[in-house]
Amino acid sequence: TLQTRFGDVVKHLRGQARLTEENIKDSLRDVRMALLEADVALPVVRDFIEQIRVRALGAEVARSLTPGQVLIKIVHDELVKLMGEVNETLNLNTQPPAVILLAGLQGSGKTTSAAKLARWLQERHKKRVMLTSCDVYRPAAIEQLATLTAEINATFFPSDVHAKPAQIALAALEAAHKQLYDVLIVDTAGRLAIDAMMMTEIQQIHAALNPIETLFVVDSMTGQDAAKTARAFHETLPLTGVILTKADGDARGGAALSIRQLTGQPIKFIGVGEKTAALEPFYPDRLASRILGMGDVVTLVEEMQQKFDHTQAEQLANKLRKGRGLDLVDFRDQLNQMNKLGGMTGLLDKLPGMNQVPDHVKNQINDRELMKLIAIIDSMTPQERAFPQIIKGSRRRRIALGSGTRVQDVNQLLKQFTQMQKMMKKMKGGNMAKLMRQMSG
Ligand code: GDP
Ligand code: MG
Repeated sequence: TLQTRFGDVVKHLRGQARLTEENIKDSLRDVRMALLEADVALPVVRDFIEQIRVRALGAEVARSLTPGQVLIKIVHDELVKLMGEVNETLNLNTQPPAVILLAGLQGSGKTTSAAKLARWLQERHKKRVMLTSCDVYRPAAIEQLATLTAEINATFFPSDVHAKPAQIALAALEAAHKQLYDVLIVDTAGRLAIDAMMMTEIQQIHAALNPIETLFVVDSMTGQDAAKTARAFHETLPLTGVILTKADGDARGGAALSIRQLTGQPIKFIGVGEKTAALEPFYPDRLASRILGMGDVVTLVEEMQQKFDHTQAEQLANKLRKGRGLDLVDFRDQLNQMNKLGGMTGLLDKLPGMNQVPDHVKNQINDRELMKLIAIIDSMTPQERAFPQIIKGSRRRRIALGSGTRVQDVNQLLKQFTQMQKMMKKMKGGNMAKLMRQMSG
């Protein structure tokens, strides 16, 4: 994958002591290979490499940085630039109903994306959304959209299969207008490949609707072909953005890097699954970090700030500063914090370098284990939590029963806790306090 390839490039760069014309050339060869293997369109690769070469040659290497770091930063910045810098959201700034037209090849994910978008607009923006389908060639396609629309509690405008697609679109627009809908989403027919009739039809629909958003829906698995279709649609329709679907699959990832350049339009959303909730706004900087194997640090930091309980962390830090030992209440609080941060597995995946750790190793850190530990501590009395040494045989049996676990599990937890206590005593209380303060931002 693109991620692992870039991981190699990054490793290669880390060993460099100076940034020379020679090693820039070597690194750029690796970068070019990585991009081509990922199916990034050739002209895009060429421009991209040239940009980096020019910037790298003129780059000043500050004293505190290594040349490798500087080059990684340049590659990162150029990746972000290539994908459009910032998340561009939908433009609904018009007299309602704001019309969103979806175009793309058959199977690219238009119908699914129509429902996903509607759900997103309803949930995030409290919009009233109507949907309709102009796919008169396949009754099953209309049925599919009707079903999805019912599932998300939006309004479906039925399509008259004997009417022309542009007429259906107009009728829906009129209805949405009369019934004061905020947004009208129009799904269209796709073909297996570009053909003149399809292009004429979508142009007619576009002319009838004059949509504020015309989104090109493209399957990220289609690689080089995605670039070709993107260009064809771009020449036919005034696109305003792109939805990149199936980003959850093991696509080589090239489409995300080519699309912006080839259409001049930003990727606004990515589809990350078949369910109607599986739609995410697209953030170029996050994807760039992920591609370079730096992990989704931005997301991680944001989640930390959002979910980490500052007061609790502060209290714990104070306690540690005063040299008091940990008790089981603190232990449980820490486990709970971890759980809130998406569990161990979720957290680990976002850390830099984790994509190189094999799954079987990651799976040993099990979220169910975490919940079990919390349940056991919850079944203790306050006295037991404060003085774990009093937890002997009969108490252990009672706690196991209360938490739905086995006595061995309780034993194991107490053992883990004792080990942790010992470790904390060895560490200077001050250091730990500092760490906790850092985590609480
Ligand atoms: P359309 O012909 O363009 O309307 O495509 P559909 O919306 O019918 O989607 C085609 C297939 O791709 C369906 O099986 C969808 O469930 C699937 N699909 C669409 N978007 C995604 C996505 O983001 N991830 C995954 N894994 N599957 C998707
Ligand atoms: Mg469809």
